[in-house]
Amino acid sequence: MEKDHTTETAENEKSVSRNFIETEIDKDLAEGKYTEIVTRFPPEPNGYLHIGHAKSILLNYGIAKKYGGRFNLRFDDTNPTKEKTEFVNSIVEDVRWLGAEFDGEIRFASNYFDQMYENAVKLIRKGLAYVDDLSAEQIREYRGTLTEPGKNSPYRDRSIEENLQLFEDMKNGRFEDGAKVLRAKIDMASPNINMRDPVIYRIARMTHHNTGDKWCIYPMYDFAHPIEDAIEGVTHSLCTLEFEDHRPLYNWVVQNLDYPHPPRQIEFAKLYLTNVVTGKRYIKKLVENGTVDGWDDPRLVTIAALRRRGYTPESIRMFMEMVGISKSNSSVDYAMLDYCVREDLKMKKPRIMAVLHPLKLVIDNYPEGQIEYLDVVNNVENPELGSRKVPFGRELYIEEDDFMENPPKKYFRLFPGNEVRLMNAYFVKCVSVEKDEEGRVTVVHCTYDPETKSGSGFTGRKVKGTIHWVEAGHAVKAQVRLYENLVDESKGVYNKEDGSVNVNPNSLTVLNDSLIEPEIAKAGPGDSFQFVRNGYFCIDSKDSKPDAIVINRIVPLKSSFKIKK
Ligand code: ATP
Ligand code: MG
Repeated sequence: MEKDHTTETAENEKSVSRNFIETEIDKDLAEGKYTEIVTRFPPEPNGYLHIGHAKSILLNYGIAKKYGGRFNLRFDDTNPTKEKTEFVNSIVEDVRWLGAEFDGEIRFASNYFDQMYENAVKLIRKGLAYVDDLSAEQIREYRGTLTEPGKNSPYRDRSIEENLQLFEDMKNGRFEDGAKVLRAKIDMASPNINMRDPVIYRIARMTHHNTGDKWCIYPMYDFAHPIEDAIEGVTHSLCTLEFEDHRPLYNWVVQNLDYPHPPRQIEFAKLYLTNVVTGKRYIKKLVENGTVDGWDDPRLVTIAALRRRGYTPESIRMFMEMVGISKSNSSVDYAMLDYCVREDLKMKKPRIMAVLHPLKLVIDNYPEGQIEYLDVVNNVENPELGSRKVPFGRELYIEEDDFMENPPKKYFRLFPGNEVRLMNAYFVKCVSVEKDEEGRVTVVHCTYDPETKSGSGFTGRKVKGTIHWVEAGHAVKAQVRLYENLVDESKGVYNKEDGSVNVNPNSLTVLNDSLIEPEIAKAGPGDSFQFVRNGYFCIDSKDSKPDAIVINRIVPLKSSFKIKK
């Protein structure tokens, strides 16, 4: 699968060599620590996945694939408050769409609640966990600070018997929510605050989407996660840098629970894009306050939004390879993702004509009522895409800004007296215009020269401009949505005062009268095209109907981003 996006860039060659995670894996294999490599992607089902998650998915999947191992998709659903089936479904769809094939069934951390409970009991029996009656606030006070050690809880030295009984009572609902917790007994003076007797179980009467009301105690993330990994035989638990300080606790858990081949946590830097909203919290707010049209609004960088806008899995994989993985945080320019989707679509998609802002053009000397069908190749760079017939006639539409009544110097498109080529068709010369009451040009009149047909080998004279067009009677009307960055780049992503997103008021432009050549009617939701001179476009998979086509611009043709060759 990695093979279908070969680009001859220096960046790509670099990524063929081993990254730091692979170097560690090679070492582990050489030492005989593991026999098969197992990775996982562990999303919390509390929102839609975004481009940052795609990095994690493709990294974990890519490593499993490279080493002939397994890749698991496991929902980290240990926190029942926020989890929703809608999110589970969208995540599965996104992971599949990215091409990350996971091993076996979809896994749920909540399926391991029994084993987690047993493991907690095991720690108690080893004298490594205790039930604490301190309140959440007291626990915070006792924890100390970065510069001061913590203090032992007065309940820290309860007997194993008492702890076993109390923990069972916690499970059986004998205590109020928050009345007691189970804590790991590690070291209240540890320089690493995560090791100061972290809470590993809490009482919370919440209905869980999977286990219902079976449990009124739930494990904490730092205890649950290593156990989930160990149960599944995960060898390398790849996570982002903010978990680096939790690694000693991760190791403490798997070691003290005597897993024979304990998994190993390795951290990598999150993917950040400049001027883009990735935090679930913020996206959620934009969805809830109606700034965007759902989690898949094409201006967002959720995977669902990227898919809807017309980005391809190949373009996202290419992007991730170019970005690579690293141990320090940095931001990547969004333009790089645009570059990747252009590169991916360039050879694959037909290039058709679409007029976004139509202006009527009449060829006065072309026979009234006559239609001819011109042969047009679908993609001049890729003959495999074949050719199509494009209707041509007396009345056409051209782009409004391909005509100017009083052009500046160096304007080579249509103006009174000037001759241009109609792409794939004939030379036309502007002879007159019609205007409305406000003086705006409504119709451009031209004459054409039948000798100049494209492909006829005509060499008599040259013109400096070529413009695209559609035939008036056959063109299909469509709504075209043009996008700019959702974020107002001049202000930065977040408003410093209230933490809201600085939204660009021009992030969406809706054109209701665009005209596309009839080829578009053969396509369906999710299909994409190059519209010559205008960019890459995709038929919207949510709002488009056969009799009311809606099209998203994925990207314009030009980019400020250049790859060094
Ligand atoms: P966010 O807060 O951005 O919505 P999260 O970390 O809360 O993300 P999880 O569902 O917990 O979302 O994340 C699942 C996995 O994706 C984790 O392993 C996490 O480290 C990884 N991940 C999240 N954001 C990024 C990112 N920007 N780049 C790379 N990996 C990421
Ligand atoms: Mg999270």
